[in-house]
Amino acid sequence: MAILNALQIVPALLLVLVGAPMLPVLPAEHYEATLMGVLVAEALLLLFLTRAADTQYRIASFAQAVWLFAFAWASIHMLGGIQFRMNLTIAFATAALIGTQAHPVHSVYIILLTIAGAISVVTNRLYGFLPGTPPSTIQNIPEFVFSVFFPVVSVTLFQIVLLGFKRGKPVVRQAQAAEVPVQAPPSNDRPTPKESVIMTAEHEIADPNQTSQHFNRVYLANQGDQALKDMKDILNTVVYFMSRNFKAYTSLGFLVSELGDKLTLNAVVTKSRNLNYECVIEFGKGVIGSAVNKPAGFITGNLRSYTGDLEYYSQPENINSMMIMRVMDNQSKRIQGLLVVDSENMRAFTDEHKELMYRFTQIASAMITSAKLTYQMNKVAIQADLQYEIAKKLSESLKVEEVIDVLTQSLMRTFEHDRLIIVAYNSATAKGAVWRIIGDPGNITEGMEFDIHDNRSLYGSVFRNRRSVVSQGFRVEQRFVRFDREEPAEMKPQDILIAPIHDDRQAVWAVVGLESNRGGVYSQSELQLLKTIMANVTTALTKARMYTEMEKLATIDGLTQIANHRKFQDIMTMELERSQRYNTPMTLLLMDIDHFKKFNDTYGHPVGDLVLQMVAKALQGSIRNTDYCARYGGEEFVVVLIQADEAQSRILAERIRKAVESLQIQNDDKILRVTVSIGSATFPFDGSTKQELIDNSDKSMYASKQGGRNRVSFFSEVKHTPAGIAPAPH
Ligand code: GH3
Ligand code: MG
Ligand code: MG
Repeated sequence: MAILNALQIVPALLLVLVGAPMLPVLPAEHYEATLMGVLVAEALLLLFLTRAADTQYRIASFAQAVWLFAFAWASIHMLGGIQFRMNLTIAFATAALIGTQAHPVHSVYIILLTIAGAISVVTNRLYGFLPGTPPSTIQNIPEFVFSVFFPVVSVTLFQIVLLGFKRGKPVVRQAQAAEVPVQAPPSNDRPTPKESVIMTAEHEIADPNQTSQHFNRVYLANQGDQALKDMKDILNTVVYFMSRNFKAYTSLGFLVSELGDKLTLNAVVTKSRNLNYECVIEFGKGVIGSAVNKPAGFITGNLRSYTGDLEYYSQPENINSMMIMRVMDNQSKRIQGLLVVDSENMRAFTDEHKELMYRFTQIASAMITSAKLTYQMNKVAIQADLQYEIAKKLSESLKVEEVIDVLTQSLMRTFEHDRLIIVAYNSATAKGAVWRIIGDPGNITEGMEFDIHDNRSLYGSVFRNRRSVVSQGFRVEQRFVRFDREEPAEMKPQDILIAPIHDDRQAVWAVVGLESNRGGVYSQSELQLLKTIMANVTTALTKARMYTEMEKLATIDGLTQIANHRKFQDIMTMELERSQRYNTPMTLLLMDIDHFKKFNDTYGHPVGDLVLQMVAKALQGSIRNTDYCARYGGEEFVVVLIQADEAQSRILAERIRKAVESLQIQNDDKILRVTVSIGSATFPFDGSTKQELIDNSDKSMYASKQGGRNRVSFFSEVKHTPAGIAPAPH
């Protein structure tokens, strides 16, 4: 394409140089027609030459032909002295050319053609070198100057506008160019293929899908190393391409240290044997260190004029040229590193090289930022994963003990620690008590108590303020103690992280502490993580409390605080099954308070309620741990005696009857008493199903009522007697 463009100049030049001066020789009436011929010839020629190019380019070429026509036409009129028309025509032609977005090379040779044309016309006018044309008729010098330079100025203007117009587009091209190197270079081009293999192997070990989805410090540390490796790898690639592009003696990539005050050498491609690979350069020191403060970079073709050795060589080398450019993080505007090339040649690097170097820094920056971002995102994702997992586990925990279990497991997995301590509030002593220690207990023991109101107590402060705390360097901490004020420093942990455990109510009922004997383990970010976990714990505890309350509501009788009818039915089902399976007896006692209606009527319903509560308590106190009692409904109660045959039940039922009988109900200044009638039925002799047992114990109870109340009847005895007739009283 460039050759075609250049070729256009030759015929165009010929046309102008020969055509334009020849035209005046022709009779005036043929000027236009001849010019049109020239125009068409030129246009056809250009179209032919540029037939491989796109439409836009052809239009531009055509416009250029129009321009030539206009110029030639104007030149003729200039000979005739019509200066104004000529200038106007040129102005229009220039505008037309601008509108076509022609290739910049057009303007170059249009300038040449313009100058050539003008000179040929003027010289002809001055000296009449063409036969038959009159010699100089030029009137004044300013007109001459104006005639020659107006078109030149117009075209120059065009050039400027055109370039300005085109500038908008290269941005796109640059961006595309910058993207290309982001793809990994072909593997055989990689300077350190060995390292990438190691990296892959390590990556597999650290891959969360292959080990555990859980976040842990080791994994994140691996991730950090991986990010650094990635950055080194990127820098290696960039430096390798730098060395190829600049024909440098040494190409180097420096990364800014973690603390942001030093440059560490991370990638080198060199011809030197004296390179100091361990080189670390402080900010502001030497030629390299000073470049940190040079936004435009540093370039010299004569390094001799600068003092000091180059730190990255262990022996002085004959370096004459040098170019350094900063790698900047485009978002934070902070320096990420430096790219350096040097050469033994004087003035080895030009502005063009500088431009290319700038592109390299942009690429390096984009890739380093992306590596860092990946690390950050990984970290966030892992933490989010963990949070999700913990939150999910917590949300599945319906009991307080489960919540505490999930919490301790989660904390142990999340944070590095030597021990985890849960301290509960003992309301009996109004003190904090070490409830659970997981890990190396050191000098503390479970059950030890301490004053949470002691303002020197760190654990106490969490109870009082309901706020999580982190303590770094607790061993040398003067203001706070753990549990014992006299604890020797060497027994103390270095770092402590403590959070309150509470539900949505105000009181903190426990605190959890993580302790590490190694320093620098807990900081703000750990505290933040702990707070997030604890927020979920609070929700889970609230839910657990509500669940417990609801469960109680559903199974416990509100007045007597013993199992309700529904619970009794469940117990019966469960225990019958067990008795059937193990072939053991069990007995159901059904009881009803005697003359309770009258009692209520005499002393009032509230006193009746009190009696129900007292009877329930008496039942609870009379049965064995393995037995159950429940409020069957109204003033009727049931007792389920596990593994009890009739003989054993007799003793237990009698004990219950007596317990109720001996109840003393204080009302005003009178002592009131109640009695119960009890009916008994034993599995499997008196019934094999729940309903049979209930029905038959009810029949027995009815027999007790019939027999005079305040007594116990057994189905084995009553079943043969006619309904309504009680056996002989005991
Ligand atoms: P009996 O010896 O034959 O059982 O005579 P009774 O008066 O106890 O007869 P019944 O069992 O039919 O009476 C039930 C009485 O229990 C009626 C009601 O006043 C009383 N009652 C039932 N539930 C409650 C309760 O929740 N509180 C109070 N105070 N009384 C109740
Ligand atoms: Mg009743
Ligand atoms: Mg009754």
